[in-house]
Amino acid sequence: MDVTGLSGLQPGERASSCPQEGMPGPSDSLDLVQECLQQFTVTRTQLQQIQASLLCSMEQALKGQDGPAPSVRMLPTYVGSTPHGTEQGDFLVLELGATGASLRVLWVTLTGTQEHRVEPRSQEFEIPQEVMLGPGQQLFDFAARCLSEFLDAHPVKNQDLKLGFNFSFPCHQTGLDKSTLISWTKGFRCSDVEGQDVVQLLRDAIQRQGTYNIDVLAIVNDTVGTMMGCELGAGPCEVGLIVDTGTNACYMEEARHVAALDEDRGRTCVSVEWGSFCDEQALGPALTTFDRALDLESLSPGAQRFEKMIGGLYLGELVRLVLVHLAQHGLLFGGYTSPALLSPGSILLEHVAELEDPTTGTARAHTILQDLGLSPQASDAQLVQRVCAAVCARAAQLCAAALAAVLSRLQHGREQRALRVVVATGGRVLERQPRFQRTLKETVALLAPECDVSFIPSVDGGGRGVAMVTAVAARLAAHRHILEETLAPLQLTLEQLAVVQAQMREAMVRGLRGEASSLRMLPTYVRSTPDGTERGDFLALDLGGTNFRVLLVRVAEGSVQIINQVYSIPECVAQGSGQQGILLNWTKGFKASGCEGQDVVHLLREAIRRRQAMELNVVAIVNDTVGTMMSCGYDDPRCEMGLIVGTGTNACYMEELQNVASVPGDSGLMCINMEWGAFGDHGSLGTLSTCFDARVDQASINPGKQRFEKMISGMYLGEIVRHILLHLTSLGVLFRGRESRCLQTRGIFKTKFLSEIESDSLALRQVRAILEDLGLTLTSDDALMVLEVCQVVSRRAAQLCGAGVAAVVEKIRENRGLQELTVSVGVDGTLYKLHPHFSRLVSATVQKLAPHCTVTFLQSEDGSGKGAALVTAVACRLTPMAVSEGISKSGGLSLA
Ligand code: ADP
Repeated sequence: MDVTGLSGLQPGERASSCPQEGMPGPSDSLDLVQECLQQFTVTRTQLQQIQASLLCSMEQALKGQDGPAPSVRMLPTYVGSTPHGTEQGDFLVLELGATGASLRVLWVTLTGTQEHRVEPRSQEFEIPQEVMLGPGQQLFDFAARCLSEFLDAHPVKNQDLKLGFNFSFPCHQTGLDKSTLISWTKGFRCSDVEGQDVVQLLRDAIQRQGTYNIDVLAIVNDTVGTMMGCELGAGPCEVGLIVDTGTNACYMEEARHVAALDEDRGRTCVSVEWGSFCDEQALGPALTTFDRALDLESLSPGAQRFEKMIGGLYLGELVRLVLVHLAQHGLLFGGYTSPALLSPGSILLEHVAELEDPTTGTARAHTILQDLGLSPQASDAQLVQRVCAAVCARAAQLCAAALAAVLSRLQHGREQRALRVVVATGGRVLERQPRFQRTLKETVALLAPECDVSFIPSVDGGGRGVAMVTAVAARLAAHRHILEETLAPLQLTLEQLAVVQAQMREAMVRGLRGEASSLRMLPTYVRSTPDGTERGDFLALDLGGTNFRVLLVRVAEGSVQIINQVYSIPECVAQGSGQQGILLNWTKGFKASGCEGQDVVHLLREAIRRRQAMELNVVAIVNDTVGTMMSCGYDDPRCEMGLIVGTGTNACYMEELQNVASVPGDSGLMCINMEWGAFGDHGSLGTLSTCFDARVDQASINPGKQRFEKMISGMYLGEIVRHILLHLTSLGVLFRGRESRCLQTRGIFKTKFLSEIESDSLALRQVRAILEDLGLTLTSDDALMVLEVCQVVSRRAAQLCGAGVAAVVEKIRENRGLQELTVSVGVDGTLYKLHPHFSRLVSATVQKLAPHCTVTFLQSEDGSGKGAALVTAVACRLTPMAVSEGISKSGGLSLA
């Protein structure tokens, strides 16, 4: 059967204007007509098969699996909730692809209330065929020109225009304003757009146009616009259905079922993109020879097979193909065709709608057919109407099967047997063809009997819904702006870091000279790093922030063996003057002696007593930085710097003795304990310090002190984050502006949360779980912002630390007059070791700021206890007469 109707003829040829030979008799013709129209009948079983197959395809696509048949796409749209009805503001809406070959611009005002509605202003622009099929840039330039024309014609007061882009083609969306076109449909085929971010293309075109300042905030397809713009009333509307040029639906899916999203709560709108459904097994029996012919002559053969049976772009064409077939078989128009009838695209959706209308149909049919150059008989008009009815009825039934699949999906997803659903409908086929609507509803009732479905037509062709989504996007964009403004002062440039480095260097020099400086640059009397020949048994006492350890360290050839006894420090001792007090100032630590936990304090006293006894003979007080350097130095002789980033932060390094004013002698080296946590206490960090640093400082036990440490170390990072979160909450940017008691609690946000939240392997949903444990209720947008805050705070800490290290290694290099220095840094501290990015960022910063130094970072493995023993060992090596027998007399006390 020749269904293209062309049978070797060029349109306009007159060959078929003569009656065909061998015309069928009346009863034959009845059979032939019957047979032809019969092809468009779909049985209930077939519809059920299509429904089941589509449901299966949907569920596979949700899981991110490719089914055997070309699948529906199930694209996340980044619309997370149906409208509250409180959205307000003025929005421009640009519609492309929603209404065939035209482009629409709307000005929508949302009033924030149900009662008061402002009619939108709109203007439609016909898109020339050559633009629809030309270069992409031309299409977007055309769109930008239409926007300008609209705004010229409808002047608005607003300076900043917010635009929602209704772009109704299959897109891979990665955000509310980021969307890549997968493939053109509905008769569009512009080059260089597929695979591109269409929001960016529009922004570029608006910029090229240059007349108005328009911010493209959101991209939405027509189904989402329809769903979101639905008047509230019969309950929330959770399905959007469009039958216009093409057909598609969207619905609210449980977010946890959408594999493409990293989200486990709430619902999210998914665009089904059912136009591309084509399971040959399920759909095959419903496909007619006319469908196959239409597919072949289309712009995209093989694609969008389902849409080509339903969408308005194709219904007229299907009707035309059937009419040509019937005419060529002598069953219509006396066997005559016309050049117009033989031309693809000559019967439009509008014609079908008019022809199908039973009241005006027959009369209009005559006019329409005459316009096509045909001379219809009375019986022809009736038959043409029957053809239209058959093609449309099938389209409505197939659409119903697809909608029933969506309803089944809703039931599955929500684990509900019976379901009440509101479906927002849009598109010219649904609006203008009452019979299509009726058939659709009847068939849905048949296929999804457990669902109570109300159909509500969309307002403003979905424009209002697009404005709703844009309103949400505008809010998010405003929040992002505030977030960026808030975090900007914490984001340091390389220049700023170089200034820190230079200031650190200057403070080092002044400190070494004994001049006023925030760096105390304390000599430690450690004159050498280990050389590997150290031997013996040593006792080390290690007082960290949290534990007090007694170690027996046996240094033998090639090995350092440690026997360890750990005492934890009771909280009341630590709190007596604050952990910080114990850490920083030994003497302050002793103020805690009035507390409970006498045994530990007693031990410390004992230790001190022993220290005093031995100090003159053997260098015994070792701070943890020195211990770390020494312990790493035992394995790597290039280790000449020690660094701690734990509860607090500090560093030490090997300085030329001649530079150390407070110690006589001008040859050899001396390890200097920088006490760098105090850097900046004389104001040099002033310009870098933010209001959040000031708040953390003010609330600390030592306001004004340890300013560098307060930007870097574990005791403070969580607090800085907490203050930023409080600030963002107070501006309504986080946690819906609800200020929780929990977040106001000092210390509630631990620095270890930064590590957990920033861990690459953790999904956003787990980030949220961590925060929910703290009693914070947050959306995924909130979780993303908290993550960003953490990243900025820990990055600044690592970079400042790196600037400090750069200052030190550069000084060592210059001290020795070297072009290039290769040096190692021994590092300890839980923040440095456990944070997922800290160490990498320190190293990267040092590389940038000290390009002539090759710096290797070594993590000390057994803490400063081993180092304390090694300090003692080295001291013993250097001054053998000081060595006494037995462990009780060779001891090191390590103080953090
Ligand atoms: P200290 O410095 O007290 O001797 P640590 O080096 O173990 O001991 O540092 C402890 C500090 O490290 C804690 O106060 C906390 O701020 C921080 N911290 C603990 N766990 C983590 C983690 N997972 N990530 C980052 N910082 C952490």
